[in-house]
Amino acid sequence: MQTVFDRNVDPDLIARALGSAVFGSMWLDIPRPDYPALPGELTTDLLVVGGGYAGLWTALHAKERNPQARVTLIEAERVGWAASGRNGGFVEASITHGAQNGKSRWPTEFEQLEKLGLANLDGMQADIAKYGMQVDWERSGMLAVATEPHQVEWLREGAEVGEGRFLDQAAVRAEVASPTYLAGLVAAETCAIVHPARLVCELARACTEAGVQIFEHTPALAVQREGRSVQVTTRAGVITADQVVLATNVFPSLLKRNRLHTVPVYDYVLATEPLTAEQLDRIGWQSRQGIGDSANQFHYYRLSADNRIVWGGYDAVYHYGRRVDSMYEDRPETYRKLAAHFFITFPQLEDVRFSHRWAGAIDTNTRFCAHWGLAGRGRIAYVNGFTGLGVGAARFAADVCLDLLDGHPTERTELEMVNRKPLPFPPEPVASIGIQATRWSLNQADHNAGKRNVFLRTLDRLGLGFDS
Ligand SMILES: Cc1cc2nc3c(=O)[nH]c(=O)nc-3n(C[C@H](O)[C@H](O)[C@H](O)COP(=O)(O)OP(=O)(O)OC[C@H]3O[C@@H](n4cnc5c(N)ncnc54)[C@H](O)[C@@H]3O)c2cc1C
Repeated sequence: MQTVFDRNVDPDLIARALGSAVFGSMWLDIPRPDYPALPGELTTDLLVVGGGYAGLWTALHAKERNPQARVTLIEAERVGWAASGRNGGFVEASITHGAQNGKSRWPTEFEQLEKLGLANLDGMQADIAKYGMQVDWERSGMLAVATEPHQVEWLREGAEVGEGRFLDQAAVRAEVASPTYLAGLVAAETCAIVHPARLVCELARACTEAGVQIFEHTPALAVQREGRSVQVTTRAGVITADQVVLATNVFPSLLKRNRLHTVPVYDYVLATEPLTAEQLDRIGWQSRQGIGDSANQFHYYRLSADNRIVWGGYDAVYHYGRRVDSMYEDRPETYRKLAAHFFITFPQLEDVRFSHRWAGAIDTNTRFCAHWGLAGRGRIAYVNGFTGLGVGAARFAADVCLDLLDGHPTERTELEMVNRKPLPFPPEPVASIGIQATRWSLNQADHNAGKRNVFLRTLDRLGLGFDS
């Protein structure tokens, strides 16, 4: 069975549209502050390793909790250069990678997780206002669209269980004019869009204004507990800290025990040139919601503040060996596929060109949402596994890390979701074989009215999976 995205698109149109797309995240094309490298040895109360959202929220909230504490953050490269500066900028309330995943894994605490997620999104909006962060925040909601007949029922069911308002074909096309849309589900309150890299830069500014010391170009090479402190080795010398948070996302964990828990999955994105008012008029999109389609292999897309369309997803590529490597980022066949799907979705925009193409690695775990842990007799906390939905969840994750280090039970630390870890991925070559089989099966399901084969149903029963 074919899907709507199997239609042929004129290869010349794709070549023309991609012809002048530069390689690199469009979001990072903004002035960004430089922070020095660590000059030598240092002693601190809290050391945060990793300068993405998770690390920066941890540092900022640590200072809020205890303004006197010495808080230091080290980043191997530059603040926000990785996933936090390359993502789609969808800020979802869900901390469980969507309702379906949360409900199936934690049925008894799901309602509480939803409440905590919404409070986190509201808290993030409040923090952004409090610190005067200029991040193009738009609380415009989320529109899920059906592009295949079987997905219409999924969206209707979503509306029935309170996930949003169902739109029939005419209503969804009145919102955003795509001939591929068969139905929609609007969740008005539970999603915002943001400029991802401005969020990183503004978080870093807020951190430094609160007294956090940030060092870039300072990879942590090893971590080890020494008596009542933790020693983190860097090229410049040892950092001695009372407590450490490892917010290193998809990069190899400094803790061996955590290494098999995530795999890097490459996600690819295109951005158009800014649309003129007349081009935007052709598709409507007055409410400026984030949009996602509903297959296993899905696209996500949104408008930027200057009315570019940021268009990503679909191919989620895992490479044998778990390596995070920039050589995987420029993948012409994926960019061509994304461009073709863009023109299938919006044929009325054939005069629009792409200005940027880029990719980033997603830290995928087998349960699709963050997991936490403590090491070094409770002095080292870590979080990983956001699986493509970490822009909002990273702030919640930071609070969990601080709670865990604090040692007093909180609502967050009592959650089963926080206390239980996902199963790790197996070592190679089994990981690769399993992931490729899962990807193949998901693609088959998308081409077979969503029906999951025996392999996927077995994984479902075991609570295992692969997602981006
Ligand atoms: C293309 C793409 C699109 C996405 N779209 C969305 C979206 O729309 N919505 C959403 O919610 N999520 C999305 N995500 C996921 C989201 O971007 C991430 O979950 C989030 O940015 C994770 O933040 P982080 O701080 O954990 O990780 P990162 O931003 O990866 O930061 C980790 C940092 O740690 C540093 N580091 C690692 N090891 C060391 C070390 N040993 N020493 C010092 N520093 C170290 C790294 O250099 C890096 O800067 C997307 C991801 C990608 C790649």
